[in-house]
Amino acid sequence: PSKEYEILRRRIFSNTKEFWYYINSELKSLGKQVQGVERIGHMEISVGERYRSLLKDISDLTKVDDYATWRQEESENLSSLVQNRLDDLQNPAECSKAKQLVCNLKKKCSFGCQLHHIVYCFIVAYATRRTFVLDSENWSYAAKWQNIFFPLSDTCSFSVNRTIVEWSGIDDKYAQVIFLPIIDELRNRPSYLPQNIPYDLASRLSTLHGDPIVWWIGQFLKYLIRPQAITSRQLDEYAKKVKFQKPIVGVHIRRTDTIIYEAKIHKLDEYMTHVEEYYKIRQLQSDAVIIKRIYLATDDPTLFTEAKLKYPEYEIIGDEEISRTTDVLVYHNVALNGIVDDIYFLSLCDYLVCTFSSQVCRTAYEIMNTLHPDASSLYTSLDDVYYYGGQNFRLNKAVLAHESDGPDEIDLQVNDEIHVAGNHWNGYSKGTNIRTGITGLYPTFKVVPVIQSANFSLHNEQYT
Ligand code: GDP
Repeated sequence: PSKEYEILRRRIFSNTKEFWYYINSELKSLGKQVQGVERIGHMEISVGERYRSLLKDISDLTKVDDYATWRQEESENLSSLVQNRLDDLQNPAECSKAKQLVCNLKKKCSFGCQLHHIVYCFIVAYATRRTFVLDSENWSYAAKWQNIFFPLSDTCSFSVNRTIVEWSGIDDKYAQVIFLPIIDELRNRPSYLPQNIPYDLASRLSTLHGDPIVWWIGQFLKYLIRPQAITSRQLDEYAKKVKFQKPIVGVHIRRTDTIIYEAKIHKLDEYMTHVEEYYKIRQLQSDAVIIKRIYLATDDPTLFTEAKLKYPEYEIIGDEEISRTTDVLVYHNVALNGIVDDIYFLSLCDYLVCTFSSQVCRTAYEIMNTLHPDASSLYTSLDDVYYYGGQNFRLNKAVLAHESDGPDEIDLQVNDEIHVAGNHWNGYSKGTNIRTGITGLYPTFKVVPVIQSANFSLHNEQYT
């Protein structure tokens, strides 16, 4: 397919959603203002029906346009390309002479956050063409990395006997082993950090995928978390125990510490509304009656009881026990398995409903994107748009002009670039127009995502 076709197809799909977000949210607020007008309720139902039919037809385009095989092959080819590069990088013939980049696992945060720390190190290693060496000594989780996942290298492991030079802000070409600090403490940030993807892959990726940065991050996770045989066995046993099967929607509900410090609480019903939407569209695509199933992952085990009580028509899959692994327990080395199982099975779901403010859900979504040619539309986030912790920014570009309609909104001229703060999922996004420096709301359909890329030049020399 042409790049233009793929981009247009995805744009029509996402703008159909944006259109519905807008109408739906306006009707809801009208319904609250104008009590007793039944017509508004009817409209809501009718608009929903029309929307789902339209969305189904647009998503069916991928089944009838004859490019499915191309998408599959292109995604496999691109993935092999990156996986082979990582494999070469990680297995130098002589480790004692290889340039290395070391990170440790002492970052004071939980599993999803630590995985993202490792991915960031791996990206810097890739860009500076250094073998990534993980020092997993004193990991706050019970197990060593190698007990659960494959070691990151067959030829090179961490050695305390090397002289290690602290990262000085730019890659010190002459230092053999460099230690990289956590992303929050990085000075002189290099251009190749998220949301930049490598320039040499940008064109192909922006044809294949709706959100190339997610694909790119996913590739590092794919390499990093290759389960050891014992982990695979445990995952298989767990799948049997919980009777994991498709169709299934992954629902991740983050409670406990996060709601106190970082994110707003969302009720179970909010998540389930989106699950219902998913199954309504899915049912339109099938003659047989679809069994509605969710995989529930949460750090609040009481949600299992609530879900079973309120949604008896659903099969609720998941393990109440493993959701008891709160941060406090994790720091006391109680259980890594729970969160590994949950992230893994969330990533295997057909669709995700969660809050992207949580790294658990973002990680599951990143892994999910290694399992499909393009899973960039297979989610609903109740809060943030996708981001990478410590990233530079997400960029949009205006393709339609906009005149602000009220003090909350901003003006846009065609080609204005906008730093995105978030999507309000009501037809509007919030961001800062770089030209005017003004922050505010703008209709999401008036912009397109900008594929941000940077030169990971050392790699181009080696591989192209
Ligand atoms: P974030 O704080 O949600 O961004 O993600 P982190 O992974 O950094 O920290 C959350 C921690 O809470 C996880 O590592 C788990 O220990 C626990 N947790 C959160 N959600 C779940 C879940 O769905 N299942 C399990 N088993 N644990 C969870």
